[in-house]
Amino acid sequence: MPELVFFSGTMDCGKSTLALQIEHNRSARGLVGMIFTRDDRAGEGKLSSRLGLVTDAVEVEDGQDLYASIVEHLSQGGRADYVIADEAQFLAPEQIDQLARVVDDLDVDVYAFGITTDFRSKLFPGSQRLVELADRIEVLQVEALCWCGARATHNARTIGGVMVVEGAQVVVGDVNHSAGEVGYEVLCRRHHRRRMTAASARAAALSPDVLPVSPA
Ligand SMILES: [Zn+2]
Repeated sequence: MPELVFFSGTMDCGKSTLALQIEHNRSARGLVGMIFTRDDRAGEGKLSSRLGLVTDAVEVEDGQDLYASIVEHLSQGGRADYVIADEAQFLAPEQIDQLARVVDDLDVDVYAFGITTDFRSKLFPGSQRLVELADRIEVLQVEALCWCGARATHNARTIGGVMVVEGAQVVVGDVNHSAGEVGYEVLCRRHHRRRMTAASARAAALSPDVLPVSPA
């Protein structure tokens, strides 16, 4: 039975690397996939991983009907033995419904990869719809670690190194950002709640004002 699978996790947990691995394994078996992405760090029409691998992809536009796009591709003689949707948190809920229809009506596996929650620890609408519709959810356990060493489960947004909890849901930034820019950092829930990034923890450790530390 074809499936809609949601591979979810924090930033930096290896989602895109796994997407590229799935693509590689299937194309090595002679299968041809259709790859969608949106706002990949490598630029438009690219699916890339932090490990430096990259492949071409279809950049999803606002309002694009993904089901219709695949049907059109097939009607022009193209193949879509499976579908990969990376950065699926940036898709609209209707586009997730269209992907579910691809599974049900075209009998094609769809593998969606996305971050579950945003920097405020709220579900992205696309990820919420995936949780609602997916046949299977795989939570990626590649060890993204908080600065304290605990497993990172939350995404923090920083501006000039200071964690913020208000602002637009989608702002382009990266975990490798320069000082003063919008950046992202993965944290454990405890440090996300306390708004303690690696930089603020370092500053607190150096400041005599905050000692003695109250017991956790
Ligand atoms: Zn932590």
